[in-house]
Amino acid sequence: MANPQAAELSAALRMLPSTDELLSTGEVGRLLPEVGRARAAVLVRLAIGELRLELAADINSRSGRTEAYSRESLLTSALRKFDDLWRQCRRSRLQRVINVTGVVIHTNLGRAPLSKHAIEAMVDSSGYCTLEYDLENGKRGRRGDDVEKLIAEITGAEGALVVNNCAAAAYLVLTVFANGGEVVVSRGELVEIGGDFRVPDVLSQSGATLREIGTTNRTKLSDYERAINENTTVVMRVHPSNYKIVGFTDKPELAELAELTRKRGVLLFEDAGSGALIDLERFGLDDEPLISRSVSGGVDLVTFSGDKLLGGAQAGIIVGRGNLIEQIRKHPLYRALRVSKIVYAALGATLESYLREDAETTVPVLRMLGLTRDEIKARAKRFVERLGETQMSGIEIELVEGGSVVGGGSAPGVERETMLIGINSSQSSPSEIEKLFRSAETPVIARIENDRVLIDLRTVDEREEELLLEILKSTLQAASRSGTQSHS
Ligand SMILES: *Cc1c(COP(=O)(O)O)cnc(C)c1O
Repeated sequence: MANPQAAELSAALRMLPSTDELLSTGEVGRLLPEVGRARAAVLVRLAIGELRLELAADINSRSGRTEAYSRESLLTSALRKFDDLWRQCRRSRLQRVINVTGVVIHTNLGRAPLSKHAIEAMVDSSGYCTLEYDLENGKRGRRGDDVEKLIAEITGAEGALVVNNCAAAAYLVLTVFANGGEVVVSRGELVEIGGDFRVPDVLSQSGATLREIGTTNRTKLSDYERAINENTTVVMRVHPSNYKIVGFTDKPELAELAELTRKRGVLLFEDAGSGALIDLERFGLDDEPLISRSVSGGVDLVTFSGDKLLGGAQAGIIVGRGNLIEQIRKHPLYRALRVSKIVYAALGATLESYLREDAETTVPVLRMLGLTRDEIKARAKRFVERLGETQMSGIEIELVEGGSVVGGGSAPGVERETMLIGINSSQSSPSEIEKLFRSAETPVIARIENDRVLIDLRTVDEREEELLLEILKSTLQAASRSGTQSHS
């Protein structure tokens, strides 16, 4: 062959290990019980394929100078690639992380962390359980009956129903009651919540016609009065959640609206979004509709999420008039949107916390929101002291005043005062440190602000602190040793 590179490449390719060869090595063999044979074969082929491409690129980039590849060196490279691929597979699994962002209801990180009681209840019901079984008479029972009663008791509603999430709940309500008719919504409430929940889209999906009224900032009772006609089926109120109009604004009180819809014989439906089961004003959350207030104010149906401020599992909860709830229960769409025993277990245990009146200490979301700046400062100070016991050159750690964010669609700008731990390094950029934290065995998710990595202990369970300390120590030590040069 005239081309020495082509000759070298084909020689190297001939020395590549085969799929079977790799699968029968001790290294891959040891992992087979965990990986599974078929999947291991796929990964091995991928590894060889990658190696093949690398060889070609490597040899072509050299100008004829030959470097000897051996069977052993290629086998070692292939095994390393297999290891990397398997590591990637494992890392892309759903896994635990430590949230140091200070965003309490972090949608990307699974929203509300569950309470100890909720976790125990999930484990307890994970085998056979009384999901649809009545112990009293030994016959079939009604699914979710107990949890629905708890919700009704807490909110003062006649009935309750649990579905997959709040989006499903709103969609279900509109499908059952608005279908074919007109739904009146204020222009100030035609919002997108995130994760593609857009009020106009949900409405049109349900088969309803949107009748928008008022203006972005002001909608009056008279706007509703004028809009309601013989085609109107529902008047919908939406809590704008993560969007807020301030200044020259107006909207009718819920009670006024309830009186109007009752008189005109149409349904008043409120999508409260997060909603609150107890008054959260002391957490600065005076914008969140209290579900019990909506119910007593005469709203016919209210929907809200189970994993936002409620602090439970992902679910959408519908509360309201008993006959309406029963109508929804009978609709085929409800069957498609119902939840599992695991969700009922977690939700039920979380609701028990509210009825025991210890939710503020036992439900993590509320406990975290309740932490004062001084409580967090005391923890942060101790934490920094212990971090300082490790030798880390070029790493600067200090306490920084700041704010924690509620998240989960709560009003923008609502922050809880906190005390942050700021980390700076002379050798590594903040984004490099943030990435190192993220790459830890138990990934630590941090934020960067003003050119430093920030740790907010508000969202760290006290039982997690020890592990967090160990991870920070070892990653920061690595950062101060290696001192990655490139400042990306
Ligand atoms: C968050 C939110 C939703 C969506 O809730 P999911 O439980 O995520 O489906 C719907 N409506 C409002 C007003 C919200 O705030």
